[in-house]
Amino acid sequence: MSPTVIDATKPLAILGGAKVRTKKFPAHKTIGAEEQAAAKRVLDSGILSRFLGTWHEDFFGGPEVQALEAEWAAYFNVKHAITVNSATSALYAAVGALGIEPGDEVIVSPYTMSASAVAPLIYNAIPVFADIEPEHLCLDPASVEANITERTRAIIIVDIFGLPYDRDRINAIAKKHQLAIIEDCAQAPGVLHQGVMAGTLGDIGIYSLNYHKHIHAGEGGVLVTDSDELAQKLKLIRNHAESVVAGMGVTDLTNMIGYNYRMTELEAAITREQLKKLNGLLTERQENAAYLNQHLADIKCISAAPVREGCTHGYYQQPFFYDAEQADGIHRDVFLNAVKAELPVTELRETEGVKIGAGYVQPIYWQPMFQQKQAYGSQGHPWSTFNSSVSYAKGLCPVTEKHHLHTLGHHEMMRPLMSQADRDDVVEAFHKVWNHRQYLINR
Ligand SMILES: *Cc1c(COP(=O)(O)O)cnc(C)c1O
Repeated sequence: MSPTVIDATKPLAILGGAKVRTKKFPAHKTIGAEEQAAAKRVLDSGILSRFLGTWHEDFFGGPEVQALEAEWAAYFNVKHAITVNSATSALYAAVGALGIEPGDEVIVSPYTMSASAVAPLIYNAIPVFADIEPEHLCLDPASVEANITERTRAIIIVDIFGLPYDRDRINAIAKKHQLAIIEDCAQAPGVLHQGVMAGTLGDIGIYSLNYHKHIHAGEGGVLVTDSDELAQKLKLIRNHAESVVAGMGVTDLTNMIGYNYRMTELEAAITREQLKKLNGLLTERQENAAYLNQHLADIKCISAAPVREGCTHGYYQQPFFYDAEQADGIHRDVFLNAVKAELPVTELRETEGVKIGAGYVQPIYWQPMFQQKQAYGSQGHPWSTFNSSVSYAKGLCPVTEKHHLHTLGHHEMMRPLMSQADRDDVVEAFHKVWNHRQYLINR
């Protein structure tokens, strides 16, 4: 790789010049012969699902579902794994199983996929947003503690971008205030916190198997817990609890309305093969991310987000910080749009654009539902019903808002199947924009 030389005859692609690369990046396709054979095995059997929503031996699902649950529990070193049809369903079931009551408060993160903040509302509880850590981007323990009231019952914490949350401090706060912890590990499967698997750091952990995630079956989710009692409730909520409790001999009816959150045999069989690939896929992400950090280190306006001490990072996205002062005042969005213009889209993900992002998602409380406090019906339930004075005002979480608007960048250029030559093109694009940044000033 040769350093890009400033060349006014070859201006930036965003200004009409030639791109660093036009050939699409390779597809992130991890589905292969193994998954095909697994799917065929299920199709040949004719049994695409084997759940019954009554108290019966098939209440727990078919052979692939049960085998996956055993293998998942073994891999993650946890007592129970419960499969569901998405991580969203998993989050909803987790809130229910913990016995959250209408009007209870649950502390959530504003900087995540929306379902992890919306989950309390499914049980008519109130989401309360705490701010995130400036460097690690998970919920900030000090902000969590400042948001605890006598109504607080739980924390939904997210291992955002693939980095485990601050277990030691958050778990101590939870213990002190008798709060349950739901760990949203959708972005960090197989990642370690002091040798312990992320997802097993709180009371219930959840994983996603949607097609964006480290391993996938198209759609799907998994819950984990060491508690027999919670595992049973999760299985009931997954599969028509109200029709099952009597036969099963369950007398505590708290949140025992059931759903159909069941995973099919097909997804379970595919996930069993994907799980075998997780270690390798994770290592590839980590090595690719390290390579990119090393080769982008001389670009003064960007810096790699640090990894929490004692943790590995799963790099669902590779986060970095942008400092406009180091780039002659050029705004992050201008700089990153110029980098994106140098690069191609990724095969099979053409509609998603170049996989470099500025600011991740909007702080969740900016969504109309929170701004207008209107969830169920038209009269403001549950906030109005419980006289909730919780604030969703803009400015509520300044660290999150600053990262969203100005300082956080992220990309997926460390995905498995990106070759060294592919990564070098990414490195060259960043350098080209950095070296030609004078053309971006005041744009
Ligand atoms: C993907 C994701 C989810 C939701 O996953 P689904 O399986 O699509 O429902 C939840 N939380 C986080 C942090 C995610 O990244």
